[in-house]
Amino acid sequence: MNIHEYQAKEILKKHGVKVQEGYVAETAEEARQVAQKLNTETGTSWYVIKAQIHAGGRGKGKIQQTNSNGVVLAKSLDEVPEKAKNILGGTLVTHQTGPEGKKVNKVLIAQDVYYPGDSEPKEYYLSVLLDRAKGCNVIMASTEGGMDIEEVAEKTPEKIHKEWIDPAIGLQPFQARKVAFALRLEGKAFKEMVKFIGSLYEAYVSTDSSMFEINPVLKTSDDQILAVDAKVNLDDNALFRHKDLADLRDLSEEDPLEVEAGESGLNYVKLDGNVGCMVNGAGLAMATMDIIKLSGGEPANFLDVGGSANAQTVEAGFRIILKDPNVKAILINIFGGIVRCDRVANGVVEAYKKIGDIKVPIIVRLQGTNAEEGAKIIEESGLKVKSAILLKDAAERVEEALA
Ligand code: GDP
Ligand code: MN
Repeated sequence: MNIHEYQAKEILKKHGVKVQEGYVAETAEEARQVAQKLNTETGTSWYVIKAQIHAGGRGKGKIQQTNSNGVVLAKSLDEVPEKAKNILGGTLVTHQTGPEGKKVNKVLIAQDVYYPGDSEPKEYYLSVLLDRAKGCNVIMASTEGGMDIEEVAEKTPEKIHKEWIDPAIGLQPFQARKVAFALRLEGKAFKEMVKFIGSLYEAYVSTDSSMFEINPVLKTSDDQILAVDAKVNLDDNALFRHKDLADLRDLSEEDPLEVEAGESGLNYVKLDGNVGCMVNGAGLAMATMDIIKLSGGEPANFLDVGGSANAQTVEAGFRIILKDPNVKAILINIFGGIVRCDRVANGVVEAYKKIGDIKVPIIVRLQGTNAEEGAKIIEESGLKVKSAILLKDAAERVEEALA
């Protein structure tokens, strides 16, 4: 699960990481109020207004409607509501959102930490993530902060320092010093960075995250080390241990069909193609997507209805697939292992009749226990449903349906 920058900064603060302070706002008026509050609390008179979406590249990204960037500076309190208005409610397009962009519902009003006239604000890159291949956590650090880290990794990989941490032992103080040293820091800034790294690692571990990325980490001219941005991936499988973190979920950032599928216990991922598919088992679902491609179609989704497909799950799956306007045909591919094919066939017929008015052709391939009985039920239903037992036949039917 992903969370917003302002939420990630709250977590960091709780663990003692120094951050660029700020408050979230949903309206221009609220933006002014929180800027006023920041002024009182921090003395800042310049503010940064930051669109809160689950994607990076906001600084360079543009709001379609107003042409404002997703991160802008306001040099007085009066500029804040006006500049916030140009971002709120708009669609922000960045290199990470795709051309359709993402709607901005909230902005973070933060203190400007790049002090005016600051001769040497220096940006660094710092992240903690899981190295699955090594079975370790890894801290990645670079002097090339504020840039696209993928680009740094590709063009100048020697500029990324990696420090692997055995999760059973935890971060050793010498390791944090090694990272700060690799960033060529000295004196107070060095000490602050060592502290920053320790607290960041603690935030990562205690939230069961799979990634905590701070880009940029800022060194101010008075040698403070601050988190200016924060991107976090929480491990979904560990969320049951963190009720407070699970509550940070922002459904408006997720695909509505994926949210609906999750509520019905279905494993659904929306794709761009024209053939909807409903399968039991993730492996079979992958193979089915290959078959769709081989027969000249493009999968519209990945959908695993689970091992025990029944009328309810089939119906929920149908409804979700049918909401996708790109779908021109649906391929149902069920292996009757635990569940019998005749039961699935009855489920399909029942769900079809219940939904009614299905315009796209449906191809049902049932294989395994009672496959023949299942096929018979489908054929005799009188509905616009074709059955196939062999995968090859199913592929041919899909091809016919698309022709
Ligand atoms: P991203 O573009 O989505 O990664 O958003 P960031 O939070 O990283 O912000 C983008 C850029 O805005 C940063 O790299 C900084 O250069 C700039 N920025 C962020 N905070 C401040 C600030 O307090 N003052 C100034 N002048 N620039 C800032
Ligand atoms: Mn950033």
